[in-house]
Amino acid sequence: MQLVWFRSDLRTYDNAALLAAMEQGPTMALFVACPKSWQQHDMAPMKQDLIRRRAEALKLELAALGVPLLLVEGTDYRALQSVFTALLPLGIDTVYSEQEYELREQQRDQMLQQWLAEQGVGWWQCDRQCGFAPGSFVTGSGAMYQVFTPFKKRWLQRFAEQGVTVLPRPKAQPTLRIPSLALAVMQPGDHSSAAWPVVQDTLLSQLRNYCQQRVQDYQKRRDFPALDATSRLSPYLALGALSVRQCIARLQFEAGDSLQQADSGASVWLSELIWRDFYKHVLVAWPDLIKHQPFQADTAAIRWRNDPALFQAWCDGKTGYPLVDAAMQQLNQSGWMHNRLRMVVASFLVKDLHIDWRWGERYFMSKLIDGDFAANNGGWQWAASTGTDAAPYFRIFNPVSQSERFDPDGAFIRTWLPALAACPAKHIHWPHSDTMVKSYPKPVVDHAQARQVTLALFQQARQQNG
Ligand SMILES: Cc1cc2nc3c(=O)[nH]c(=O)nc-3n(C[C@H](O)[C@H](O)[C@H](O)COP(=O)(O)OP(=O)(O)OC[C@H]3O[C@@H](n4cnc5c(N)ncnc54)[C@H](O)[C@@H]3O)c2cc1C
Repeated sequence: MQLVWFRSDLRTYDNAALLAAMEQGPTMALFVACPKSWQQHDMAPMKQDLIRRRAEALKLELAALGVPLLLVEGTDYRALQSVFTALLPLGIDTVYSEQEYELREQQRDQMLQQWLAEQGVGWWQCDRQCGFAPGSFVTGSGAMYQVFTPFKKRWLQRFAEQGVTVLPRPKAQPTLRIPSLALAVMQPGDHSSAAWPVVQDTLLSQLRNYCQQRVQDYQKRRDFPALDATSRLSPYLALGALSVRQCIARLQFEAGDSLQQADSGASVWLSELIWRDFYKHVLVAWPDLIKHQPFQADTAAIRWRNDPALFQAWCDGKTGYPLVDAAMQQLNQSGWMHNRLRMVVASFLVKDLHIDWRWGERYFMSKLIDGDFAANNGGWQWAASTGTDAAPYFRIFNPVSQSERFDPDGAFIRTWLPALAACPAKHIHWPHSDTMVKSYPKPVVDHAQARQVTLALFQQARQQNG
């Protein structure tokens, strides 16, 4: 009996572990919900619910392949050994899985691999979370790229040479039945993610439709949060319900030659998928990032002001800056936020409110349905000017001009801030001069002054570091 242990690869297509196990012989599968460990990662309840719902759907999809999936309710990673102990009497030959890059997950795997070896059980793992595996290409001096543009150039070169391989769904095996075991059955979630479909075929059609019908305009429309112009596939990439290779291969198939034109929607979308790879490669090369260290060590000396009341105003979307507040409402109410807005609110927290980027990073994780350590940490350190290839510290988004530029008629703001629904267009980006608007908070800071403070904070840290 072969055992596939599903974690961040909740799919049957392009799943190397599933394919390898089924090639060896009769296969069963396992998924263990570990809410205590998820909480240690600040995982949003909505993401936890999506995982549970996706695991239930996967059970049906695997049943069609004759593979029984055991859905187990666990606690934290330390309890996993007892789950495997209950399974070993079934005669498990080898445990198959896809590698995860985060520290606790790596430690969990090392411990289990060693323990399974002592029980005479084999361990098979593949590294397929990226288009190209971390470490598979490095700079001329053998180091990982710290800057995105040369990384992307090298990535595209590899892509032109090799393409990416998408593995087929395995052929069905004769239906395997396993005896019932004394293990707690996975509990249903709280249904907070119900707006997001979880059936694999539906997700594959969403990907296909996006690449066939909408990606062409990505370049022109992607920065406008009122438009539904991006793919919204991030929650599925975060769960591995879709693989990045499936996205790349589908894009290549549908976009054809336009993928070669640097400014086409297709090639700009591909760039975003490459950013995803970049941050995962960065995490593997610098594992200290997971210990909440800034990438640029000298920025550790910045004396953030960390005012709890200002932080709360930001979390609650009550800063008096409409685009920031509308974005935070989108996050708090829907569990997802548009990329342009993630940049705007992150810059605002760090460079207008002078709050440590790690507070914002953590808050995002606790709310995002697509929370992903590498992308989230990368995005926050970019905005805070502390990361790899980060925005220079003097680049400070003006939240009002960002609003005028990317939500010109205020459609996004009006959707998420009922207090401004009737605000005339000329005041929507700065409603404080409209005497009719009474129930909207006053601005918590003055942007021009806050900007000067940020410049001083970074300069002080630099002087301190000599
Ligand atoms: C402060 C901050 C925090 C972020 N936190 C996360 C996070 O926790 N999880 C997450 O998946 N993304 C995160 N991002 C990146 C990006 O905002 C989201 O991936 C994107 O908004 C998801 O929407 P979409 O699926 O419609 O993206 P699309 O525009 O359709 O892009 C396609 C895919 O490319 C990847 N991608 C796009 N932009 C980026 C990027 N800048 N970095 C890495 N991957 C990217 C995502 O997997 C996305 O689904 C963060 C960005 C910032 C600035």
